Amino acid sequence: MSFSFDIKHAESNSLARVGTINTPHGPIQTPAFIPVGTKATVKSVLPESMKDLGSQALLSNAYHLYLQPGSDVLDEAGGLAKFMNWPGPTFTDSGGFQVLSLGVGFKKVLAMDAQTFRRDDVIAGNKDRLAHVDDEGVTFKSHLDGSMHRFTPEVSMQVQHQIGADIMFAFDECTTLHNTRPYQELAMDRTYAWAIRCLDEHKRLTEARVGKPYQALFGVIQGAQYEDLRKKAATDLGSLESNGQSFDGFGIGGALDKGQLGTIVSWVNEILPEDKPRHLLGIGAPEDLFVGVENGCDTFDCVLASRIARTSAVYTMEGRFNLSNSRFKRDFTPIDSECDCYTCTHYTRAYMHHVFRGKEIISATLATIHNERFIVRLVDQMRQALLDGNFAEMKADFLGRYAHRSGQSRD
Ligand SMILES: [Zn+2]
Repeated sequence: MSFSFDIKHAESNSLARVGTINTPHGPIQTPAFIPVGTKATVKSVLPESMKDLGSQALLSNAYHLYLQPGSDVLDEAGGLAKFMNWPGPTFTDSGGFQVLSLGVGFKKVLAMDAQTFRRDDVIAGNKDRLAHVDDEGVTFKSHLDGSMHRFTPEVSMQVQHQIGADIMFAFDECTTLHNTRPYQELAMDRTYAWAIRCLDEHKRLTEARVGKPYQALFGVIQGAQYEDLRKKAATDLGSLESNGQSFDGFGIGGALDKGQLGTIVSWVNEILPEDKPRHLLGIGAPEDLFVGVENGCDTFDCVLASRIARTSAVYTMEGRFNLSNSRFKRDFTPIDSECDCYTCTHYTRAYMHHVFRGKEIISATLATIHNERFIVRLVDQMRQALLDGNFAEMKADFLGRYAHRSGQSRD
């Protein structure tokens, strides 16, 4: 087995630690931000550029790759990393989040007033739902062509083994903050039952697929905003062993209220086994990354850095702003004068403004390179600060400048 996690340094006054995740495709120095290439590509950016900007690994999505081109195609190609010409480690999200979020209508829900909800079935009108959950799995309609599919824990494991990422996640039921407490309990019991089935199928596939590099499986901790549910999930999944197989690490997922992020993550990480890596799913805003690191998370992923880049929004030490704004028309300074990325060392805000206004394809490429570098580097700096013993100072310095200016220029 060629998967391991070594802790080099652990803080005495917080849950933060520095370590190395070793995978068959190479090591990941943690804490680390893992950029997202949902469909086996970080949109508009070459893998070489991702490597150059310091990305140590990439995360793709099993749901999307299962629908297109099909996980069997990736298997035949020699796995995700080889298929997309990425020389390093890869992760795949199980598809549970996408199946349910696309199916339940997450975006519609978030735009509504939570106070008006009384029952779980108001989350999306029945006719609008693309996904239906039962104890065995999820039946869903493809958002691409309307065809019907079914994911069970076993299918998710088969799909993820075919895709061949170094780190996979167990199939879980992802709830929202709008689900009722009884529904959260039901979903958590289901996620636990599915975790056992994932471990069993993972073990079977690992043994059957002789000669393939070992793929690590992370369990996913749910429980929404409830302390007792989060702690129970961490206790149950942290110690779970089925037929001699336990989880290689853990993902913290589900509904995470931003204001309570640190509290929720610390409930979980105080319980999870110390010697296994912990991934905070879908979190990537600068201020949230500090909270995640100091509360014991080792890796992070988020699609936001690249998604907002394509709309001309960039992270900088002056806060977040939009390059398409006319005030940048004659600004011949870099996007961020402190950034060492390819974009900032070769282009000006005026050029970026021009290519965004002209809807030139290069605008997405250059802005994505900058945003991904900004976030990858920020977490790299946190790792160095932990090793140097000045994390608190580094955090205060960054947030003092970033938050102060963000407040003035947020879009
Ligand atoms: Zn830059």
